[in-house]
This record gives sequence, structure tokens and C-alpha cells, in this order.
Amino acid sequence: MNNPLSYKELENLVKTLKSENVELKENLTSKESLFSSKEKFYEQIINHTNEGLAIVQGDVLKFVNQPALNLLKSTKSELEEKNFSDLIHPNYRGNLIIQISKIIEGEIPNFSSTIEVITKSSKVFSVRIYVEQILSNNNQATLIVKIEDAEELIRKQQEINNLKSALTLFENFSSEGVFVLQKPSSANQLLFKWNIIEVNNSITRILEKKRDDILNQPLGKFLIPDFDYSLPKELDESFFEELELYILNFKKHFKISVFWYAADKLVCRINDISDFVLTKSELNRNLQRNELITEILDIFNRDESYEHQFDRILDRVGYHFKPKRIAIIIKSENKKHGKIYSQWASNEFEKFPSDFLIPYQRVPSWNKMLEDRKMILGFSVKYLPDDIQSFLNTQNINNIYAFPIIISDNVFGSVLFENYENLEWDNTEINYLKMVSVLISSLIGHKVNEDNLRQAKDHAEESDRLKSSFLANMSHDIRIPMTSIIGFSDLLVDEDLSITEREEFVEMISKSGQDLLSLIDNIVDMAKIETCQLKLQTDKVLLPHLFKDLLNTHLNNSKIINQDDLDLVVDLPQKYENIHFETDVFRLKQVFDNLLENAIKFTEKGEVRFGISNIWSKTVEFYVHDTGIGIPEDTQHIIFKRFGKVDRSYTKEYSGTGLGLAICKNLVEIMGGEIRVISYPSKGSTFYFTHPLITEVSEEIFSDTPDDKKTIEYDWSGKTILIAEDVEQNYKFLEFLLDATKVNVVWAQNGKEALEYIRNENTADLILMDIRMPIMNGIEATRAIHKISSVPIIAQTAYTMGNEKDMAIQAGCVDYVSKPVNADNLLKLINDYLNK
Ligand code: ADP
Repeated sequence: MNNPLSYKELENLVKTLKSENVELKENLTSKESLFSSKEKFYEQIINHTNEGLAIVQGDVLKFVNQPALNLLKSTKSELEEKNFSDLIHPNYRGNLIIQISKIIEGEIPNFSSTIEVITKSSKVFSVRIYVEQILSNNNQATLIVKIEDAEELIRKQQEINNLKSALTLFENFSSEGVFVLQKPSSANQLLFKWNIIEVNNSITRILEKKRDDILNQPLGKFLIPDFDYSLPKELDESFFEELELYILNFKKHFKISVFWYAADKLVCRINDISDFVLTKSELNRNLQRNELITEILDIFNRDESYEHQFDRILDRVGYHFKPKRIAIIIKSENKKHGKIYSQWASNEFEKFPSDFLIPYQRVPSWNKMLEDRKMILGFSVKYLPDDIQSFLNTQNINNIYAFPIIISDNVFGSVLFENYENLEWDNTEINYLKMVSVLISSLIGHKVNEDNLRQAKDHAEESDRLKSSFLANMSHDIRIPMTSIIGFSDLLVDEDLSITEREEFVEMISKSGQDLLSLIDNIVDMAKIETCQLKLQTDKVLLPHLFKDLLNTHLNNSKIINQDDLDLVVDLPQKYENIHFETDVFRLKQVFDNLLENAIKFTEKGEVRFGISNIWSKTVEFYVHDTGIGIPEDTQHIIFKRFGKVDRSYTKEYSGTGLGLAICKNLVEIMGGEIRVISYPSKGSTFYFTHPLITEVSEEIFSDTPDDKKTIEYDWSGKTILIAEDVEQNYKFLEFLLDATKVNVVWAQNGKEALEYIRNENTADLILMDIRMPIMNGIEATRAIHKISSVPIIAQTAYTMGNEKDMAIQAGCVDYVSKPVNADNLLKLINDYLNK
């Protein structure tokens, strides 16, 4: 028997074993904690990758990261510590186990395949797995398995494929073409003369030519630029130039970049930028045109004359659209023509002639199209109606655009643009032109309205002025005969009056009554005409009779009787003597009477002649001619208006209401004719008027000749008459009247001058003394003269007022005459006193 261990030995052994045990335990715990911290660390990393990962030991799933759990639609607890092979679809399980054992055996480093897995809800789907061994321990290998969604992978692949094909597409169809050019053997600086030695695919597509047909040809054979670019003489690596050229044969804009490639070789890259250039220029043009509209509106709002505004607007439109010519055509007053109102022409063209007309009768379609609110778009004239076509041909116009000018719904004219041959405006441009035309129409509308307003205002003012002057004249015209009627009637009461005096006074009263009556007749006639109540009563009349009557009437005019050098002549050629026509004799005579009275009134010397100036098949034209004071041209248009009188305030004041010619004009027109005047100041006037004619031959012949005027001739040669008169015309009249008597006439313009003449010269045989005069009146002057001379003084008074006559006689006058002076009476009176 072995010696048993002593208690001490046993005790020491137990101690040793215990301490070893503690050491081992400590060792184990530290190792365990080390392991668990490492595990945590890896778990952290693994969980934060986007890929699905699992750790498999033997067949047990030791760890599954979150992306893998998401993919397999399970939780950690559902998978960990379970068998890996249970996840795999039976169809794939066998092959997977074989492959894994090959890995463990070290036959293959790893394995990847697309397999199917089964989830806890028995759903089957494809995954892509990748398996690799990470640890080997007692035949129990630790594997890492990467799991990815197979469908997702396919989709990604597809995406990549798509991108690739897009890239190829881009390469094949990119607009960028590249040439490699070689300097030609005959040295040439012009880029387009260089030879092509290489091209990319795009070039064959752009040029629509095969590569072989392109190579070794000059660049200019395929691209014809609007101008060739001249390269610098020395080319080095730094050479780079970018050009924008218009390639004529392609009708396109290209951006051409040229840079150095090798000695005598250049790379030339071309890009079609036509769309860009077009859009850019279109944008620019539209911007400019919007600008134009703003400019027009701006001109429109300025306070400038319309003429100036139209000129400026057309100038701006011309600048923006660059046509040959622009014209604003407006309808003539009779609406028969379109005539130029304002126009513009580009520098190289003449403007339209100022008498350019569109005769609407000859070119009816022009008016018709505008009336239908249509534009006349004649890029090619041949598409326009025939009449417009032939009109434009005569005007040498090939390309025209016309837009109607519409004012208050009426066609007022057109705005006409003449474009260069073969240049067509597109729709946008036409729309802009339309807009411009509308603006022009609107401006014309403003002008027309303003003109109408101004005319209405002028008219109102003129009517007002004419009426006031009518009233002023009227009171004067009524007052003169009325004063005379009242004055003479008062005088008739005087029982001492002689028979002759009474007869004379009655004659004055009757004449004044006649004057009043004719004034009232005129007013009534005018009122009838204005209210369209004047009716004609036609009758047959024989011209010689009519003229004889007229002659007889007006030969009785005191002026004709009294003035030797004023004759009244009738002019009826024999060939017209049998003319016989229908008319309202009373009214026709009224016209003649008026014209003859005026002619005599406004003529001091010479003749008044009336008769026939012309005869056409259905019209006769009469005339009344005088050699009187005439009518200034600028006032000839007012004399036919109611109350229209020529302002002669600076010369003689002629009585009259200004109604006579207005009545004549209306009567002539009512009878179917027209009246006009031709007149030259201080030479005379001729009034012409027409009358419809129905001729018939008559046996009666105009045979009577007018009675000769019975005039007494005086001869006062060697005598002197002093005329004291402030109004020059009155003096002139007297001077004229006395001219035939060969008397010497002296003029004193007021009483003082008369007195001085008598005091200094004392040669007068008789004085004609006006009573109303400035500085010293006739009464005072007569008194003063009587103190130094016994020369007979005859007073002239404006109004036949009794007290004026008395005062004159009391002051020392031998007699008096009343104004207007009756020439015969005056001459007779003077004769009496000169011969006393
Ligand atoms: P009135 O009664 O004033 O004569 P009319 O209408 O007959 O009116 O004439 C208008 C104006 O025309 C006259 O005031 C005168 O100024 C001018 N006139 C008319 N006839 C003649 C003429 N024969 N010579 C010169 N002036 C004339």
C-alpha cells in the first residue's frame, strides 16, 4: 500500500487547486467580457451597413443584422439560434449545403448564387446570397452570409443598362459634330479651304454624307458660310477661336469652335444653334416691337401737333419693320378716292407722289375689303382681286399690306405698308402691324373728333358773330329809313312848305318805306328758306322780257341816274334772244335784283353788266359783272353765308344786312343751280349762277332799248369848292361826283382845317360843310368862317333831323343836303349857288 498524502500535503494541494480555479474563473470572466464587448462592437458595425448580413455557426444562425431581418420580414428572436437551412427553399437546400461544405473543406473560397428563401409566413422570394468562411473551430465553421433582394438587383442593373443606352444615344445623336482639318498644300489662311481628314458620327448625320465622301475634301465644300474666317498666320497650342456663322446651304446658324490639334491640323467643332439664334432674335424682335408700341403710345400722349405725331410714329414704325414705304390713306371728302394723309419712305425710296390716289370706282375691291373689315395682305399681289392687282401694277407695287382705319364704326381709310419684293411678314409681324394700325386709327379718331369740335366751336362763334353784326346793322338799317320817315312826316305838318318840297318829302318817305319793306322781305325770305317753306311757282319766261324788266328797274337806281360814268349794260347776244324757259320768275328776278343792287352799290365808276355767260344743253349760266371795289379772296367764302359781310370798317361803311347773297345762294340752289363769284379787289366782281334750261324757240324778240339817261352837264371850270368832311369815302364820293364839272376841289378834314383854309387862301367859291366832325364841328366852323368870309356854305347832315338843319341855317349856311346825298339834287343846288 502507497503512502497516503499527509493532511498538510492535502491541504496545500487543495489550496493550489482552489487558487488555480479562481485564476481560471477570473481568466474566463475577463475573456467572456472581452468577447461580449467585441461581439457588441461587430454587431454595431454590422447593423449599420445597408446590406443584409448573417453569421452562421454549423447550421445555426448566430446573428442576423437589421437589413437582413427587414428583407426576410422576421424579428431577431424568430431567426437567431434557428437553423439556417430551414430558411432555404427545399429546391435550393441540397446544392447550398454542398457548396458550404466545399468552403469549409477549403475547396472554394466563397460561393454566390440566386436562390429562393421562405419567410415565416411561407412567402417564397428570390435573394442573392454570398457565403464566405470567417472562422474554423473543431470542424464547426463560422460563415458570413450576405443576402440581397434579387429583384432589387435586377432593377438596379436595368437602370444601369438604361443609362448606358442613353449615353450611346447621346453619342450617336448629339448635335455636336467634329472635324479634324489639315492645312491644304497650297498654303491658305481661309478656314473653309482647309481639308477634312477625320470626322465623328454626328458629322455624317449632319451632312447626310458617308464618311468616305467627306474625307479629304475642303470644309467649304460642305459648309458654305456667309463669310469665310481668316486664320492667323502663326498657329500654336494656344489657338482657340469661337465663331457664330450663318451657313448658307443649310440656312442655319452654327457655332464653330476651332482649336489647335497638331502642327497644321485643327479641330473644328460645329453646333447647330439656329433654334437658339432664331428664338433669341424672335425674342429680341418682339421686345423691340413691344418697345415700338410703348414708343407710339408715348408719342401719342405728347402735346404736339398731329402732323408731327404722325410723322414720328411712321418714322418709328419704319425703323422697326423696315418696309419700303408706309402711307396713311384717308377717304376724300366725296368718298371717291383714298388720298395720302401722311407717309414715310426708307432712304433708298422715293415717297409716294403727293397726288397719289386710290380711285375707289376703279378699285372697288379695295374699299369693299376694308368695309368688310378685312386686311389686304398682298405678299404676292397675284392672290388679290383683279382690280386691286391691276391698280397696284400701274403703281409698280408688288408687295402690300393694308389695314383698315376705323373710326366710330366707319372706314376712314387705310394704313398701307409696302414691303420689299419676296419679303413676307409672318403672323406675329402682321399682328404687330395690325396693332400699329389700330393705334394710328385711334390717333386719327382723336384728331377727327378734335377737328369736329373745333369746327362746331368756330361755327357757333361765327354764327354768334354774324348774328351780333346782323343785329348791329339791322338797328342801323332800320333806323336810317325810320328816322327819315319820321323826320319828313314831321316836316310835312309845316303849312309853309311848297308843293315841290312836299313832293320831295313824300318821295323820301316812300323810298325809306321801300327800303324797310325790302329789309323785312329779306328777313322773311331767309326765315322761309331756313324752315323749308319756300315753294317755287314756275312759269314760262322769255329771256328778252326778263332782261328788259331788270334793266328798266335798275336804270331807275339813283346812282345810275346820277352818275354819268356808271353805266348799266345788258348783254344778250342775238343767238340767245329766243330762249324761253321755265322758272319761278319772281325768284329769278329776286336773285338778279340782289346781285345788280350790290353791283351798283359797290361800284363807283365804270359799268355794271349782266347777261348770259354760257349755255349748255340743259343749263344756262347768267352773270352780273361790275367794275367796283371787289371782294378780297380770303373773304369770298363768307359773303354767301347769312349775315356775311366783308369787314370794310377801314374804308366806306356800306349799308346792308348781309342777307342778300345768302338768299341768292339758297334761291339759286332751290331752283337747281349753283352760284359762284370771281372777284379782284378794286377791279371788280363777277357773280355767275346757273339755272336748268328747257329751251324753246319763240317769235318774240328782245327789241326795246333802254331809255337814255337824262343827265344835265355842268361846267364849273375855274371855280373852287371846299369840302369839309371827316370821312374819306364821303369826300371821295363828292370829289368823284364833282369831277365831271371840272371844278377845283379842296379837302378839309374837319372844321378847323376849313377855317384855316379860308383864313389863309380864301379862294373857295362854295363850301360843302359836314355838320358832324371831330376837332371843330360844322356849326362852329360855319360861324367862324362867316366872320371872315361871305362864301356860301351848304350843310350836309347825316340824319335828316330838323334841329340840325335849323342850327345850320342859324349858323349861316345857305342851304343843306341830307346824307346819303342825292347827286342830282346836290349838283343842281351847287349850280344855283355858284351862279348866284
Ligand atoms: P348786303 O346786304 O350787306 O349787301 P349781301 O349778302 O348782298 O349783303 O352781300 C354780302 C357782302 O358781300 C356785302 O356786304 C359786300 O361786302 C359783299 N359784296 C356783295 N356784292 C358785292 C359786289 N358786287 N362788290 C363788292 N362786294 C360785294
